[in-house]
Amino acid sequence: MTTNLYDLAPEQIEAALGEVVSPPFRVRQIIEWLHERGVGSFEAMSNLPKELRAQLAERFTVAFPEVVERTPPAADGSRKYLFTRGDGNRIESVYMPMPTSERTSVCLSSQAGCAVGCTFCVTGFFGAGRNLTPSEMLGQFFTIQHEHAVPHERMNVVFMGMGEPLLNFENLAATLDVLYTTVAPKRITVSTSGIIPGIDALAKLERRPNLAISINAPDQKRRSEIMPITAKYPLPELIAALKRYPGAITVEYVLLAGWNDAPHDAVALARLIRGLRAKVNAIPFNADPNLPPWMKRPTDAAIDHFVDTLVRNGVAVTVRRSKGREIAAACGQLRGKDVATGRAARPR
Ligand code: SF4
Repeated sequence: MTTNLYDLAPEQIEAALGEVVSPPFRVRQIIEWLHERGVGSFEAMSNLPKELRAQLAERFTVAFPEVVERTPPAADGSRKYLFTRGDGNRIESVYMPMPTSERTSVCLSSQAGCAVGCTFCVTGFFGAGRNLTPSEMLGQFFTIQHEHAVPHERMNVVFMGMGEPLLNFENLAATLDVLYTTVAPKRITVSTSGIIPGIDALAKLERRPNLAISINAPDQKRRSEIMPITAKYPLPELIAALKRYPGAITVEYVLLAGWNDAPHDAVALARLIRGLRAKVNAIPFNADPNLPPWMKRPTDAAIDHFVDTLVRNGVAVTVRRSKGREIAAACGQLRGKDVATGRAARPR
């Protein structure tokens, strides 16, 4: 199979190109085309001689996943992208403009499917898939960035799409290294269900992204009910790992009506995360026909009460009025689904 240069680190690209490209400045030019401009073909590398572009195309690829569907823009401007891979896997990403600022976020998938099995999440419902390669993650980013012509300095990147990024650590770290060429680490957030070895590995990187941790319940017993991963990585040990993480942390908390949204739950959550210096992002649940019917979105009054209680207990909190709800692009709603027909494609 032809090597995709987006799957290689700069020094590996240099070694791979050695036979074809002799002057070092040509190698630098090629790496710039890839990591700064994110081109999807050798043809686009306009400052390279034509013969060299042809030689490169014979030996390597710079291909991205193919876009098969794009939803029309939702009322808030967000759009969902469905990409396909040659092996039949499908990946979803979301473009999210921020109406109140000039910034734009892209939500990327790190796996096609997810084995973690959180019961409030449609991706988890459809089960395990496979790890995405750096070229597949970078392809989502560059495709959306090019289509909307967003300058790099206005991009935020969040790994909150399909999959658990810290179970695909090596490919994630390689992808981050390329993204850092144009997007500052503080503009990138990796969201995890609480894979402790992954959190510790991320903490050891020279350049670290922000971390978002999906907590969703203030105690071990309830968290285990909706996040089976809690049995492997218990909540007290997870909190200890978060205290070791040297970067910014956001605690994500999906609010489920009558289950974890009472004021006493807010008090327990504030107690649990004391000492973390984290802010909380409260996410009212997004219903989906594939998810348990008992899971319901709380009323606005219940959400406000929960948030006020957190604030009174000294916690900084924002509420994510999920972008893209009407196109099933909100948190926990990605599954590699056919946008036009609405058929859900089980990730392979
Ligand atoms: S919430 Fe994240 S970790 Fe949990 S099942 Fe969904 S994609 Fe996987």
